[in-house]
Amino acid sequence: MNKNDFPILREMVYGKPLVYLDNAATTQKPQVVLDAITNAYTHFNANIHRGVHKLSQTATVEHEAARAKVASLIGAKSPNEVVFTKGTTDSINALAISFGEYAVNEGDNIIVSAVEHHSNIVPWQMLCQRKKAQLRVIPLTNDLSLDLDAYKQMLDQRTKLVSVAHVSNVLGTINPVREIIETAHSHGVPVCVDGAQSVPHMRLNVQDLNCDFLAFSAHKMYGPTGIGVLYGKEDWLVKLPPAEGGGEMIEHVSWEKTTYNTLPYKFEAGTPDFNGSYAFGKATDYITSIGWETIETHERNLVAETQQAMRHIHLNGCRLHIYAEQQPKIGTFSFNAYNHNGALIHPFDIGTLLDRQGVAVRTGHHCAEPLINLLGVPGTVRVSFALYNDENDIRIFANALEKALTMLG
Ligand code: PLP
Repeated sequence: MNKNDFPILREMVYGKPLVYLDNAATTQKPQVVLDAITNAYTHFNANIHRGVHKLSQTATVEHEAARAKVASLIGAKSPNEVVFTKGTTDSINALAISFGEYAVNEGDNIIVSAVEHHSNIVPWQMLCQRKKAQLRVIPLTNDLSLDLDAYKQMLDQRTKLVSVAHVSNVLGTINPVREIIETAHSHGVPVCVDGAQSVPHMRLNVQDLNCDFLAFSAHKMYGPTGIGVLYGKEDWLVKLPPAEGGGEMIEHVSWEKTTYNTLPYKFEAGTPDFNGSYAFGKATDYITSIGWETIETHERNLVAETQQAMRHIHLNGCRLHIYAEQQPKIGTFSFNAYNHNGALIHPFDIGTLLDRQGVAVRTGHHCAEPLINLLGVPGTVRVSFALYNDENDIRIFANALEKALTMLG
């Protein structure tokens, strides 16, 4: 994996080489993506669709080519199933509005899990408030995996949708979404998968997984900020009403009646981020050129090797607790440290001391407050990887952590 493809990784932080381990929040961009953004704005920046002039036609072709690339990356049946949004949060909000309008009534329920990011909690809470429906939460077992027995008990005739994270953005654990989907489908209930932390790290095929909806963000997979995807099975997208009105999503507008555009445009009101989609397409090319097998193996190894390195550092009387330590993880893991008196060392203090040594990690609740409350801590230190991280990063991180513990222990 070539770090040199990512110019920002040559930055120095406080005079130290940057070790970037905050990839679950956002990834850095390779030169091809940076060039794509400049190219688009320099050579074919024009509003897409309906333009008769050359620039508009080029921009349109590139935008639709990017959609086809994204469709192929996730194994969608057709590019019509790929709706461009602003990101995962926007995708889930759009679905909550649209699906909520179509299917949810007073007394119905929606199921999410205990490890969700706020983006897969709050839109459903808002919907449930609007519709007087109930939000049900799949609890965790002692080893911090989803309690599937409890899940099976909570599905009933009033369950309208299950929406679950594929990979926890705090723990890095991989939820059994295939089983969750099969169970939901056996009750006739559709499933939305929050793929924000899985799509960037593993080969995911929506047809094979058989999810009804999938949400993810380009910026977490080497693409630009401000663009993401709501995948939906075509027969669902055909049935569902648009979440927003305005340009692009219409067929005809009159004072009496508005008719809607075909898929996927029905869900894309307003000018889309067409230069962003072009750059996102280049990010998918970059991923494909490296290959999922290589990325997946590399990132799984990084998690395992970092956890292993943490077991060997000099703790200076401190104790480290890695959450869900024994479970398979991808991309991410969280830990906390306790001083020689057994008191929690605040994750912010560790994060700050790591930062001073050039190591960027994230600390806090990671937009998953219900999970953090369940863990009974004010936050965690989260280490998250991308394809450009390497053993040298792990070594620097482990040394920096050892120093931090010496100072805080
Ligand atoms: N869902 C999960 C699991 C996430 O990790 C994140 C971001 O960290 C989101 C949703 C929200 O993504 P975005 O801020 O790109 O909309």
